[in-house]
Amino acid sequence: MPTSEPAVTNLADRETPEATAEAAMLIVFIGPPGAGKGTQSKRLLSYLGIPHLSTGELLREEKSQNTSLGRLAAQYMDYGRLVPDPLVLEMVGNRLNHPTYAKGCMFDGFPRTIQQAKSLDESLLQRGTPLTMALELRADENELIGRMLKRAAAEKRVDDNPQTIAQRMDVYKKQTAPLLDYYAQQGLLVTIDAMGSQDEVFNRITAAVDARR
Ligand code: AMP
Repeated sequence: MPTSEPAVTNLADRETPEATAEAAMLIVFIGPPGAGKGTQSKRLLSYLGIPHLSTGELLREEKSQNTSLGRLAAQYMDYGRLVPDPLVLEMVGNRLNHPTYAKGCMFDGFPRTIQQAKSLDESLLQRGTPLTMALELRADENELIGRMLKRAAAEKRVDDNPQTIAQRMDVYKKQTAPLLDYYAQQGLLVTIDAMGSQDEVFNRITAAVDARR
């Protein structure tokens, strides 16, 4: 992995230390595809009053607008592979410059590689607002595959077909699961059992978040 990839850009430039000192909450959601990162992080929006940033959603938006980034990203997304780090880091950096994220952010589907995690850490260090916690949503693989096939029918995502789902699971294990150790070593990892109803999982998440506030 090259070491010259950009840090999440300009994150440090936009806020004064005074404005961010009031405990910004920065939470990373990690979990295999179908574990409920999107659903649960959106529910947490109103609970915590901080915005949600999903790299998957942003990339799908780029695709649907047929931008050059969207066309490039599609070559990876449609086959269940990760979009290259520099593209994702630039996209997230541009987004985080927005004052919307002054009080914090819930990252859904980002970071997904050690390189992305290091880059995010570097930017947050410059900004003086370290990550609050990394929430792992852990669930049984067969259950997840069933959920994604249901979602495929409802949302018509091109990457929710059996072959691409298997590829995304594999990518998660190889490229994203190492983040669990990375955050555990920093004392930031909290693992949530993501089996059960959405309400049950949400209650577990709010308990974990409240313990860190
Ligand atoms: P998601 O909606 O999070 O499941 O993401 C859908 C697809 O977008 C993934 O399978 C990847 O192809 C791409 N993607 C989303 N987030 C990232 C990321 N942080 N790094 C690389 N690729 C990503």
